Amino acid sequence: MATTAKQDRAATRNTIQRTLVLEAVRSLHNHPTSADVYDVVRERHPNISRATVYRNLGVLAQRGEVLRVEVPNGADRYDFHNKPHYHAKCRVCGGVYDIDMPYQHDIASHVSDAHGFTIEHHEIIFEGVCARCKKSAEN
Ligand SMILES: [Zn+2]
Ligand SMILES: [Zn+2]
Repeated sequence: MATTAKQDRAATRNTIQRTLVLEAVRSLHNHPTSADVYDVVRERHPNISRATVYRNLGVLAQRGEVLRVEVPNGADRYDFHNKPHYHAKCRVCGGVYDIDMPYQHDIASHVSDAHGFTIEHHEIIFEGVCARCKKSAEN
């Protein structure tokens, strides 16, 4: 079935908006919140609404193009680095950092074997104080 010109335009607009949001996430390497991503998109495209940016972040996360990191007691963060990996959150500055540790596929299979639970996904978020905050506390 042929699409109408109107449908084509809407699809094109959606693709453009999604690309803008993806570019913004890729330009931020500090695990931005959705509000941070919106601020970056808005700088260059003042007409785009917050709802549009948030909706597109959801679509990108669902498609696996960006990683959504659910932070306990905090806003979700978004990550351009979209392969599963672990994070640490600093309780002083609130920063979220990548942890250079291999993804532990064994944890999931252990839980499946022991409890018969099908694990689809797991996340680990370490909490503590980042190197920079620790250093400034010492000074
Ligand atoms: Zn810190
Ligand atoms: Zn990360």
